[in-house]
Amino acid sequence: MIGIPGVGKTSLLSTMVEMIQKNGKTVHVVSYGTLMFNVAKENGLTDRDELRKLPVLEQQKFQKIAAEQIATFTEQIIIIDTHAFINSPEGYYPGLPEYVLKIIKPTNFVAVSAKPEEIYNRRMKDDTRSRDKITLVNIKKELDVQSGMISACAVITGSPVRLVLNREGKIDEAAEKIIKSIGL
Ligand code: ATP
Ligand code: MG
Repeated sequence: MIGIPGVGKTSLLSTMVEMIQKNGKTVHVVSYGTLMFNVAKENGLTDRDELRKLPVLEQQKFQKIAAEQIATFTEQIIIIDTHAFINSPEGYYPGLPEYVLKIIKPTNFVAVSAKPEEIYNRRMKDDTRSRDKITLVNIKKELDVQSGMISACAVITGSPVRLVLNREGKIDEAAEKIIKSIGL
């Protein structure tokens, strides 16, 4: 599951988990960023929001270790909460480059989006994160970059991409759509 920051991935996922468990299946949600931050912490990093500012070479090292951890999970359904790209000082850098895709072998992609104005408001509401400068222009650009990155993922893996709009106040609706379309 990919989507730009503040689009509502984590919120959507908690609703989805409840629904999937009601269907009698075991599901494991993995936050790629949390896994990477745990690896980075062992290497001296203390602030999660500093991760994306490290030299890309270093982020790639942590990213690969996290992918190898994910590949060891054995639950029936594993959903990865991640980003199609990371906004690093060197530029937009892929969250799911080919070497990661080859390790985790995703069967499906879900690309979450929302109206730029709603994403803007959601980011402004959440003061637990230290975010980059928030502007509508940047959000629109990020949605564009996301679309290119996720197309590349689909082509590399041969797995389908389900696009989902996370409408304001309609998390249940979006969660149901995803579950139904993938058959979870
Ligand atoms: P990040 O990539 O930074 O982890 P995220 O995509 O996981 O972001 P969330 O943390 O799930 O985003 O959501 C951001 C904010 O938007 C939260 O305050 C959440 O409650 C709110 N939100 C998410 N989805 C909706 C929705 N459909 N309607 C209204 N508010 C929403
Ligand atoms: Mg999140």
